[in-house]
Amino acid sequence: MLPALFLSHGSPMLALTESPARDFLRGLGKTLERPAAILVASAHWETAVPAFNHVARNATIHDFYGFPPALYALRYEPPGAPALVDRAIGLLDAAGLASAVDPRRGLDHGAWVPLSLMYPDADIPVAQVGLQFDLGPAHHLRLGRALAALRAENVLVIGSGSFTHNLSRLGREAVDGPQPADVVAFGDWFDAAIREGREADLLAYRSLAPFAEQQHPTDEHLLPLYVALGAGGAGVRGERLHSSAMYSSLRMDAYAFG
Ligand code: ZN
Repeated sequence: MLPALFLSHGSPMLALTESPARDFLRGLGKTLERPAAILVASAHWETAVPAFNHVARNATIHDFYGFPPALYALRYEPPGAPALVDRAIGLLDAAGLASAVDPRRGLDHGAWVPLSLMYPDADIPVAQVGLQFDLGPAHHLRLGRALAALRAENVLVIGSGSFTHNLSRLGREAVDGPQPADVVAFGDWFDAAIREGREADLLAYRSLAPFAEQQHPTDEHLLPLYVALGAGGAGVRGERLHSSAMYSSLRMDAYAFG
């Protein structure tokens, strides 16, 4: 059975610039059994209830500003996954969760940047699900758990966010300097909690993890981790697949659940 994945997508420049995280993602697709379809929960799509894009083919959304023209020229347009969407909506229904369909939306960069590195041929059907930023970790754990059955159907469930995400500090710190101590402390706490399967602690990360506020001024880039954790199944211990940082403080860690 495929694991559920949490991936850090970092800056959109990940698509173009060599880095350890880029190398990791380029290798990752080859290490996994080929999925029949992929469902991505990205930190860059907020919807009132979990919404799924029900399209024949995904368009590329360039949802970022001020980057080099080469980044806007990139396209990643795999087939949509309407059958997967219908199945996922049925699973949410069964779990008592409302859902919605978006018949137009394509893939935001939280989805297409990592997928273009993992599966450059763009030949595996992809659907996205929108997140509810105000509803916090517990809701997204529940969403992921409702989707866990998809893993047995050869669907790769991916949460795409960022292990740390405080963009306001990026311009102030050395691009290639060592990781600041608060980033290391937060990362060590979170990594231990994931590996030890401490779900209740993870849900309360904002009060328990050191320097949580500094790493995540808002929750949205960590919420995809809870979708992956939920899709991994009850009591799952995560396995760290990768750890690195871009711009000193933007951690690019990735985990497998289940
Ligand atoms: Zn992002």
